Amino acid sequence: MTPWVRNGHYINGQWLTGEQTYPVFNPATGKVIVNVAKGGAAETEQAITAAAAAFPAWRALTAKERSIKIRRWGELMLEHRDALADLLSREQGKPLAEARGEVVYAASFLEWFAEEAKRAYGDVIPSPFPHSRIVVTREPVGVVAAITPWNFPLAMITRKAAPALAAGCTMVLKPSEETPLSAFALAVLAEQAGVPAGVFNVVSGDAIAIGKVLTESEVVRKLSFTGSTRVGKLLAAQCADTLKKLSLELGGNAPFIVFEDADIEAAVRGAMASKFRNTGQTCVCVNRFYVQSGVYDAFTKALTAAVGKLRVGDALRGDVDQGPLINPAALKKVQSHVADALGKGAKVLTGGKEHALGGTFYEPTVLADVVPTMLVAQEETFGPVAACFRFDTEEEAIAAANNTPFGLSAYFYTRDMARAWRVGEALESGMVGINEGIISTEVAPFGGVKQSGLGREGSKYGLDEYLELKYMMMGGL
Ligand code: ADP
Repeated sequence: MTPWVRNGHYINGQWLTGEQTYPVFNPATGKVIVNVAKGGAAETEQAITAAAAAFPAWRALTAKERSIKIRRWGELMLEHRDALADLLSREQGKPLAEARGEVVYAASFLEWFAEEAKRAYGDVIPSPFPHSRIVVTREPVGVVAAITPWNFPLAMITRKAAPALAAGCTMVLKPSEETPLSAFALAVLAEQAGVPAGVFNVVSGDAIAIGKVLTESEVVRKLSFTGSTRVGKLLAAQCADTLKKLSLELGGNAPFIVFEDADIEAAVRGAMASKFRNTGQTCVCVNRFYVQSGVYDAFTKALTAAVGKLRVGDALRGDVDQGPLINPAALKKVQSHVADALGKGAKVLTGGKEHALGGTFYEPTVLADVVPTMLVAQEETFGPVAACFRFDTEEEAIAAANNTPFGLSAYFYTRDMARAWRVGEALESGMVGINEGIISTEVAPFGGVKQSGLGREGSKYGLDEYLELKYMMMGGL
């Protein structure tokens, strides 16, 4: 294992432990990896104070000076790619190849925003008055709170920390209690990269207590959250009193439409990548497959064959394609969705039950004859279950795809250019993959519409989330 396993909070450049601890499990074995300090209100206050104290000096650095440290942080991640991946797989369960991919993806945000740090341009507006000039600059928001989930224990952090630090903000991070070790490892590397004490702080433990202090603080000017819609709404409400800026990356219910004119082989490849990555536990994973009648049998047959080849197992024991679900609650949700679908007439084409490995392993599953009244149609299953609906017309598919309060990602396969534009524009979704199953990249804006959230991460737009405009009128000229 990596030499950077830490078991306490990182506050103001110091590692602090406490009397109370909680266990971090390996979901593949159910065994405890290490007990880590359980932080609460007091540690969070301490971290906010440290972030506020570090803010003036950090924002006063030139963009290039900040850029050099952020870039170095990303380079260190790549230098230690395999060790980070090992730790990540251990606490999260994803296959090593996926974990290595995540390290590279996470580091890409540090590289990207190290560059963007230098491009926080302002503006000069022609003044309507002869004796004044109007200048617009961009300033860092201030102390930022970040709350992140367990499904991408590294990337969901750098996607927030990189633009925040690039903009000149300082941060208090509360990672998921399921996966704090990756967050601690990031803090070790931040320090090695020369990020000054207090600029990046990590507190893990009692989520509700930590979240309350972060959201109620007048010092914290912004909350960036990735997680469930339920918790996102709760935190937004908690932030109302201090009127914080908000970035919310919440749940989705992604449709994946296969039209009769699609390249079916390509659609199956896209479906496999988008549905089964991370054991189906990403917010952009497909949740609903809509397949046009003429290709329904061909597509579901090919998908079933591909799903049948997935190798399930412990990420650290040989080559596997699918790991366990993160915890027993996640397994329960998958079980209840499948039971509900079968009770309402769905058919199992493959899988459909707990895996023989036990624990939280679940068989990669394909369900046919899915209809809108089933839970799999309405809620994100967040597991390895491909639920296939049948449709006849384009209008029907678009209406069904949009019939959800969510709007994060959507996918469709067609070889008709006019249809590609028409459907791409009609889908109520922040991101659309057209003949593509994987759309995440640091250079493009990631985010949702409707109840999937607010704001965008990554890309040239991502820096704005951590900047405020300031307008200055210079008069008396
Ligand atoms: P998921 O279903 O992906 O675990 P959650 O929204 O439950 O999504 O969790 C995402 C993050 O939000 C985690 O870091 C979790 O600890 C945190 N969290 C959950 N509930 C609260 C809360 N009441 N206050 C603050 N943070 C919370």
